[in-house]
Amino acid sequence: MLTVEEALARVLEHVPPGSAERAWLADAHGRILAEDVFSPGELPPWPASAMDGFAVRAADIPGDLRVLETVAAGGVPRHRVEPGTVTRIMTGAPVPDGADAVVMVEDSEALPPSAAGADRVRLLGAAAVGQHVRPRGSEVARGVRVLSRGQTLGAGAIGVLAAVGIPSVRVSVRPRVGILSTGDELVEPGGALGPGQIHSSNGHALAALVREAGGVPVDLGNAPDDPVAIGAAFRAALRCDLVVSTGGVSVGDYDHVKGVLKDLGLTMDFWRVAMKPGKPLAYGVLGGTPVFGLPGNPVSCMVNFYQFVRPVLRTMLGDPTPYLPVIQAEMVGRSRRRPGRAEFVRVRLFRDGDTVRAEVAGHQGSAGVLSMADAHGFALLPEAATEVAGTVAVQVFDPGFLAGAEASYRW
Ligand code: AMP
Ligand code: MG
Repeated sequence: MLTVEEALARVLEHVPPGSAERAWLADAHGRILAEDVFSPGELPPWPASAMDGFAVRAADIPGDLRVLETVAAGGVPRHRVEPGTVTRIMTGAPVPDGADAVVMVEDSEALPPSAAGADRVRLLGAAAVGQHVRPRGSEVARGVRVLSRGQTLGAGAIGVLAAVGIPSVRVSVRPRVGILSTGDELVEPGGALGPGQIHSSNGHALAALVREAGGVPVDLGNAPDDPVAIGAAFRAALRCDLVVSTGGVSVGDYDHVKGVLKDLGLTMDFWRVAMKPGKPLAYGVLGGTPVFGLPGNPVSCMVNFYQFVRPVLRTMLGDPTPYLPVIQAEMVGRSRRRPGRAEFVRVRLFRDGDTVRAEVAGHQGSAGVLSMADAHGFALLPEAATEVAGTVAVQVFDPGFLAGAEASYRW
């Protein structure tokens, strides 16, 4: 049997390079950047006022001063600020030449117009050179790298792109992942169950996992346990960038997936991985397309996806860190286990002060689907571990436990 690490290393040897495409900002959210992005201009493009108030020469403050004009955001100053004069200015407006500071409107007092009808203002306190002025290029200088290849574009990054004037960027193409379920017993949800039949759940869970990982699921349906049907389905699947099947990879009389893939010419490894749940795993490359044959048990199927398929998918997408994040947590309670295989224990996580605690989630059998819906992550138990207790490393697939239970601000 292979260890989980050995199996993962072998899988990652064969990841085909992904490709890139140009996306408009409206379609770029959540995508992975396929290029470094440099700012074509400066932000702000000119010295900008950070306040509503008066653009001044700092040395003139305090004092009674003549107001030259009013400049709003989007406007352009027409006058230079000379000694004894100021310009009324709004937030986001260009600071006129001659001014070296902005005094906010709260530090001003209106004065009656002069005898000649000039607009005047009294400015109080003192002004430091540069106050409330955002110098040209102070947020983003021209030519600096603002975003890096491999970065996932969050809302902040989308805002940066727009702010520096970039309407589209190169992002990695979402791999199309073919999903094939195999088994005579499978009926789609919504269909009536005949004797011996069950609803097919793996394909639906896998489609969600693929979407979560940034791929595009391609539903290849349910194939019966028949080598001809399974072969036809796999041939059709090869137009995808990655193929995942479930069921039929064990050693039962009706487990045809391995034989079919071998006949199709898959350069193939059939592995027994020392992990629980999810021992059997078929993996290979067919015509350049990675193909995974995952076990049919719903939990084994999802665990195998997270451990092997997801890192491949994220690597194709250009994610430099293609693994689930791991945190340390304290197990609640203590239970014994049989050593021998690495175990992925589904756990619920919760915060207890500064400690994260982990609690075994539901029934842990490989058919225990509720445990996956309940859990936030997998507690990783090494092969030799004899109990589930104490401090454990937890691979987090659902960061939902971080959400605050109460809508309160505790700074
Ligand atoms: P197999 O890997 O084909 O031996 O299947 C192992 C177990 O998983 C059996 O109980 C199957 O009925 C079940 N199973 C296989 N495929 C699916 C599926 N698509 N949805 C739900 N259960 C499945
Ligand atoms: Mg089967």
